[in-house]
Amino acid sequence: MQTEQARDHVPFLCPRGHDLVPGRVIVGWSPCVCPPCAERGKGLLGHRTYLCLTCKDEHMTTMCYLPYHVPSEADGYRWP
Ligand SMILES: [Zn+2]
Ligand SMILES: [Zn+2]
Repeated sequence: MQTEQARDHVPFLCPRGHDLVPGRVIVGWSPCVCPPCAERGKGLLGHRTYLCLTCKDEHMTTMCYLPYHVPSEADGYRWP
């Protein structure tokens, strides 16, 4: 059995400054087509999502996205 801890660590803090360490974060997936996702270009487009459980303990919902989510422009979709 391999050690998974180092492989899938979370590379950042939550916006409120908590360490997103294993056990303190729920990792998920959010399909998305914003530019940082589209640049990755292969397979499913979307973000890894990280829900901070320390925030959740404080009755806050803090979700982080990787790559960073960039909202598409407000004037509608213009995909080539
Ligand atoms: Zn947090
Ligand atoms: Zn996005």
